Amino acid sequence: MEFMPQPSHSIAATAMAGDTVFGRILCGEIPCDEVYSDDRCLAFRDIEPQAPVHVLVIPRKPLAGLFAAEGEDAELLGHLLLVAAKVAKQEGLEHFRTVINTGAEAGQTVFHLHVHVIGGRPQAWPPG
Ligand code: 5GP
Repeated sequence: MEFMPQPSHSIAATAMAGDTVFGRILCGEIPCDEVYSDDRCLAFRDIEPQAPVHVLVIPRKPLAGLFAAEGEDAELLGHLLLVAAKVAKQEGLEHFRTVINTGAEAGQTVFHLHVHVIGGRPQAWPPG
């Protein structure tokens, strides 16, 4: 079934994508505990970690969420996952979870695409 964006994260959320807390971190307005950076993305520690290691990997491009990604973003999305794996290795993790919350009902609170990298403790499945 084709994914239909919900009203709360469609056009308005996309327009707002540059104006989130992560947008402000990207332009240096808000500090972060950086663990990796390149020309396409930034990775930094979550301010409210849910595990011993909890890093967020975000694209420099202000995509509001996975729902806002298009064909032209395919390489960027792959890059974010490769960086997530690189960060996990850098943090000494062999077992880790990568999460992309998409939409408010799925737990997305910041409407700038981000990959959570969570590890350092056993994790249950299914998630809550
Ligand atoms: P979401 O709920 O959208 O999937 O994840 C957003 C994450 O961003 C949350 O885990 C939250 O703790 C984190 N977060 C929100 N504001 C800040 C901030 O200013 N700095 C950092 N480092 N993380 C933040």
